Amino acid sequence: MSSAQIKESNPIIQNGAIQGLSPRTGTPMQPVTTTSPQDLNEIVARARQAQHTWKNLHVRERAKKIKALYQVFLKKGPEFAAIMHEEQGKSFAESYSGEILASAELFKYWSAQAPKLLQSEQQKLDPIQFPRKQGRLELSPKGVIGLITPWNYPLSIPLRTIVPALVAGNAVIFKPSEYAARIGSAITDVFGELGLEHLVSTVQGDGQLGAHMVNSNLDHIVFTGSVQTGKIIAQECAKNLLSYSLELGGKDAAIVLADANLDRAVEGIVWGAFANAGQNCASVERVYVVKEHAETFITKVVERSQKIVLGTDDKSIYDIGPFVREQELLQTEYQLKDALNKGAKILHGGKRHQDTLFFEPTVLRNVDQSMLVMSEETFGPVLPIQIVSNVNEAISETNASRYGLTTSIWSQNIQTAENLAKEIESGIVTINNHSFTAALPQAPWHGKRHSGSGVTNSRFALYDMVEPHYILVDKAKAPELWWFPHNTAMQNIVESLAAFFSGAAGRMSALLKVIQNFPKRWKI
Ligand code: ADP
Repeated sequence: MSSAQIKESNPIIQNGAIQGLSPRTGTPMQPVTTTSPQDLNEIVARARQAQHTWKNLHVRERAKKIKALYQVFLKKGPEFAAIMHEEQGKSFAESYSGEILASAELFKYWSAQAPKLLQSEQQKLDPIQFPRKQGRLELSPKGVIGLITPWNYPLSIPLRTIVPALVAGNAVIFKPSEYAARIGSAITDVFGELGLEHLVSTVQGDGQLGAHMVNSNLDHIVFTGSVQTGKIIAQECAKNLLSYSLELGGKDAAIVLADANLDRAVEGIVWGAFANAGQNCASVERVYVVKEHAETFITKVVERSQKIVLGTDDKSIYDIGPFVREQELLQTEYQLKDALNKGAKILHGGKRHQDTLFFEPTVLRNVDQSMLVMSEETFGPVLPIQIVSNVNEAISETNASRYGLTTSIWSQNIQTAENLAKEIESGIVTINNHSFTAALPQAPWHGKRHSGSGVTNSRFALYDMVEPHYILVDKAKAPELWWFPHNTAMQNIVESLAAFFSGAAGRMSALLKVIQNFPKRWKI
């Protein structure tokens, strides 16, 4: 694929369709029809109707239907893998391990958990202050959820929202990235099996359509993508007083301590840095290794990285696919150049493969915070290693980032690692592993600072899809104490009640005063 062709592989919206070339082979992909803003409005209106029927099903009924999709979804595995192989250049192995198997769990998990977590709660109220009243707390769906997602994990990221949103009784309008339009359409097909049309609708387009969604009478926006777009969405949502959830970037660190199992740490960190060609908000983007065994660690990382197989030449079994877009490749080259100018040394890789979107896995040393590669997000296969004097330096370097998504600590002393985990300012800390918790539906995926304010996975993600709905039933016959008239008797009663409850001296005379004033209470 030539440079000119690579540029062409960016989707171009032409004649009402998303066009593009496969980043792996450079061959044209099937065009995908775009959704116009007018169509979007109609789709939202139809989704609202479908949601009305869906929310009125009991949560157990909805959960049963979602559970039935587990196998429907898995049977489509070969189709999903083939699309992602073409559209994002992922290997089949990576599509199954990182996307298909992990996402299938969502159907099982949420169908089991939602009926418990969404149960309504009958509340006991104080019979003296609130006689004959009963409260019930229900968790109602928000309505129609707008979901805007990126291209790097085009199956698992959307499903982490779609499945809990549905089981909670919402409808979803889903806009995949324009770089993931084909897999986006395939996802929606799964939900046709729910028997309710328009409950999950995929709309196709670029950022302009995304911007239109935020102004389309939706009830909540869930966004995963860049910090820059996240800020725009937050501002637009604020204008409409629309609630939103943002999952943004990361600059994950891996901290390697003196007592780490080095062989496992090397394998895990090389995988964590280069999986999905580093196009992962939770890839290892900085390593802090303590000086004791730094040289051995670095040597082993380089040796392991030399064995990584790029998916060039029509291979179907490989470790690393291509960059999906040229802009991340150019950004990676820019960051590497900056690092080299400031004294970094490339130990392996550092360049694209011929004139393609494939990039060699790159290992760097002699790096520090002043370099973009250590401070800005890198969406590519780059592993910079910094040697630190001790663990305290590793922690302070880790925390000196505007991101805080996930961090890993590699040590065989679990107690020490657990203590250090408390000092780390990121939403997730893994000990002796990295980033894979995105595949656990029970583990909250959440970052600090510029990594965003949202949560996917775990019960917190489900609670983001609902709002409290309180129902109070009053079977009292007499008027309430606090209703009109607000006369002297009423004032005496409430003041005496407060004195009685305060436990101050004279409680009995306060109680007497309440009783004496009662007959005069409702006299007008
Ligand atoms: P990435 O760099 O991963 O493409 P973006 O933040 O640019 O990240 O895009 C993520 C998603 O947000 C995509 O679906 C994209 O079409 C959409 N998007 C881009 N700009 C906007 C916008 N202004 N409003 C809403 N959605 C947008």
